[in-house]
Amino acid sequence: MPDTQTVPTIAPTITEAPEREQIDDGDHDRFAHYCKKADIVRSAVTGEAIIALCGKKWIPTRDPSRFPVCPTCKERKAAGWTFR
Ligand SMILES: [Zn+2]
Repeated sequence: MPDTQTVPTIAPTITEAPEREQIDDGDHDRFAHYCKKADIVRSAVTGEAIIALCGKKWIPTRDPSRFPVCPTCKERKAAGWTFR
């Protein structure tokens, strides 16, 4: 059931879009976010952005194991949030 699986992944660093540094709070760019594994796989093929459990939307590029899990994603996953 890959469609319901959630795995951590990471947002790109702010260096890819430095002008957005003042708009975003920045924290989300340094966390691993929970996303649908199927979305991550599709994104790797199509280059589409994915949406994390916390609502963060981006194109995954980084190894999530090097980053702490996003606190919002963690809370929502613990609270039983799932993707549809
Ligand atoms: Zn998140």
